[in-house]
Amino acid sequence: MTAVFDVIVLGVGGMGSAACQQLAARGAKVLGLEQFPLVHDRGSSHGESRIIRQAYFEHPDYVPLLLRTYELWRQLEHSTNRTLFHQVGLALSGISTSETISGAKKSADLHRLNIEEMKPAEAHRRWPSLTFPAEHTVVFEPLAGLLLVERCVQAQIDLAQQCGAEIRSHERVLEWSSNGTSVLVRTDRAEYSAGSLVVTAGAWAGQCLKELGLPLEVQRKYVGWFPVRQGSFSVNEGMPTYFYEFPHGTFYGFPSIDEKTAKVAEHSGGQFVPDLDQIDRSQHESDVTRLSAFISSQIPSLDPTPERYSVCLYTMSPDQHFIVDLHPEWSNVIIATGFSGHGFKFAPVIGEALADLATTRTTSLPITFLSLNRFRSTPLRHP
Ligand SMILES: Cc1cc2nc3c(=O)[nH]c(=O)nc-3n(C[C@H](O)[C@H](O)[C@H](O)COP(=O)(O)OP(=O)(O)OC[C@H]3O[C@@H](n4cnc5c(N)ncnc54)[C@H](O)[C@@H]3O)c2cc1C
Repeated sequence: MTAVFDVIVLGVGGMGSAACQQLAARGAKVLGLEQFPLVHDRGSSHGESRIIRQAYFEHPDYVPLLLRTYELWRQLEHSTNRTLFHQVGLALSGISTSETISGAKKSADLHRLNIEEMKPAEAHRRWPSLTFPAEHTVVFEPLAGLLLVERCVQAQIDLAQQCGAEIRSHERVLEWSSNGTSVLVRTDRAEYSAGSLVVTAGAWAGQCLKELGLPLEVQRKYVGWFPVRQGSFSVNEGMPTYFYEFPHGTFYGFPSIDEKTAKVAEHSGGQFVPDLDQIDRSQHESDVTRLSAFISSQIPSLDPTPERYSVCLYTMSPDQHFIVDLHPEWSNVIIATGFSGHGFKFAPVIGEALADLATTRTTSLPITFLSLNRFRSTPLRHP
């Protein structure tokens, strides 16, 4: 017999676990389906840490969502009695006209956010473990910090389950169909039906929504942990997160969480992934070269040879803004994808928007700028 739910969530990673939690908290009968073990390292929500910030250089329209996501992360910490967020601040470094610096200042101005602007020498005095190019401006956002990514996903799953959500791992969705009022979902184990389907499939969204021909590109991203060889780099000693924009690329990193190594990565670049079943998860010299050069020039406290590494996936939309919307054909199918390497901090507020859309088909959260309509000039391909 086909089991029946109010909502099925396809993919229980960062966004899917948030959607399960929000829906279950509202009393919906929820089924979350995850192809891998829960909190795994094969998608986009692993690797210890994620930056969270409010002076959003990508676009000021994200700021109201960020203000809400901060509230929801704090509520999640409170409800689960766990530390998920270290508010260590974020130092942005770039020339004054760079997207990073001018964009962050614009968002801060428009939304009256607290940032501090300083010269490179002053920033270096404040954080001696970091050096900044003389021509750069440094903007510090004290309310920014880092989220412990796996702990966050686990907390969302645990709370969802406590509220009654059924979450099944190692179960892959093979196909779904909708008639506008209900959905049928077939997995490699069973068949389920529900009133609504929420598709939070991360890098697999293109596959799960083939009929839409979404203009998404998956990128392989390398992340390294580099030994701390001198100075203070600990999350407990005032070391902030940091993000540098250069003409040749953007690089970012975190304070040390284990007191021995610190994570550094490049936000720009990455390799196009043509086949999700064949992701190259080995380390190549070319993965390390640019990171090591960045570390050697700006972070003398770190040894530029990585001690360990991880491979993660970005799901890029053409304009690098998210896609959160109703399916254009079936309004009981809700889509959240294209998080373009900056989505994790939003997980709880995206979960809230998805729960609104799945239950009422509308939301009062300001997400119109993330609608699928903006790609309507890109013809939708049909199989
Ligand atoms: C290296 C790196 C650094 C990042 N840094 C930041 C940062 O500092 N700040 C920030 O805010 N964001 C950052 N991001 C982006 C952020 O992590 C992602 O936007 C976010 O995690 C995406 O979540 P998701 O739920 O869409 O994907 P995922 O967490 O990957 O979840 C998708 C899930 O769907 C499952 N799934 C797919 N298809 C099926 C199927 N057919 N059946 C069952 N299950 C299925 C997958 O297995 C997966 O678990 C970073 C990303 C990476 C890779």
